[in-house]
Amino acid sequence: MFHPTVIGITEEILADPGYVLSSETSCELVRLSEAHFPDVMACADKIRNRYHKNRIFTCAITNAKSGFCSEDCAFCAQSSHHHTDIHTYPMVSEEYLVESAVSRQREGAVKFGMVTSGYANTAAEMTRICKAAASIGTQTRIGVCASLGMLNESRAAQLKGSGVTRYHHNLETARSHFSAVCTTHDYEEDVETVRIAKNAGLEVCCGGIMGLGESWEQRIELSMTLRELDVDSIPINFLNPVPGTRMGLRTPLSPQEALRCIALFRFMHPQKDIVICGGRGVTLGDFQSWVFMAGANGLMIGNYLTTQGRDTRMDMEMIRAMGLEVHMRR
Ligand code: SF4
Repeated sequence: MFHPTVIGITEEILADPGYVLSSETSCELVRLSEAHFPDVMACADKIRNRYHKNRIFTCAITNAKSGFCSEDCAFCAQSSHHHTDIHTYPMVSEEYLVESAVSRQREGAVKFGMVTSGYANTAAEMTRICKAAASIGTQTRIGVCASLGMLNESRAAQLKGSGVTRYHHNLETARSHFSAVCTTHDYEEDVETVRIAKNAGLEVCCGGIMGLGESWEQRIELSMTLRELDVDSIPINFLNPVPGTRMGLRTPLSPQEALRCIALFRFMHPQKDIVICGGRGVTLGDFQSWVFMAGANGLMIGNYLTTQGRDTRMDMEMIRAMGLEVHMRR
């Protein structure tokens, strides 16, 4: 017998694509006991299937400029405030970016993101990214995404003009928890960058990291902010504690808590893309295929920014084994 709250919410969402789950009802959902975990999963899966069918999208990223970042994000191995043993380098060449996109497409990615460390990029770096985006657009069928820190209007327009379709910029966590994560810039600067990208006509991919010490209420708060911003895609990352960072000693979330996080975002954003990104392996282990039942319709494949992902063939096989199809789209 399904829990009446879960089944009630699910029926509303399935009947009305515009149904808005309130903060209060979301709290009821996350307060359900572990005994109702299977109900939550089954219903999140139904919602995913109703609005996204069996279509999954895959994205891959390349770290186009690594390390030396002025910001102090507590989870990040690329912050110059931390002492980690990552490989640091200035921006890679345009050719390298194009070759990376071609390889990632061959491996099964339908979206490719160029990601740089740092608060923002110089004009010369932006020009290089934009030239690469234009070349990738002519040489592949992959969707071109970028994650380049803070934007202003002219840079957003420059990216849009070069063929970038989606801008990625995470809020990382709830506004009320941000000061525990980052002190070198303000939450509102991130929000403003998201607004600028949207106003420029870019799709926006914006989410956060679970497991930074936030409460369930703060996960709901983040989710509500993403709804206010009307983001197109919500990347969900899980903390992979990197030694030398301020969060290096934290314990990763349990698989069940991580899956409940995904389900929460699916209930709150029935029609949006929900894509599972960094920390998947270390957090979910043998439960990685469960992300789709929890409501995800997207998967980052390949390596992450500073940590290794698993063999992309395993991920592609996992998608097939779940009866899902990778959907080609720009
Ligand atoms: S998350 Fe981005 S802004 Fe924050 S320290 Fe890492 S590279 Fe810098």
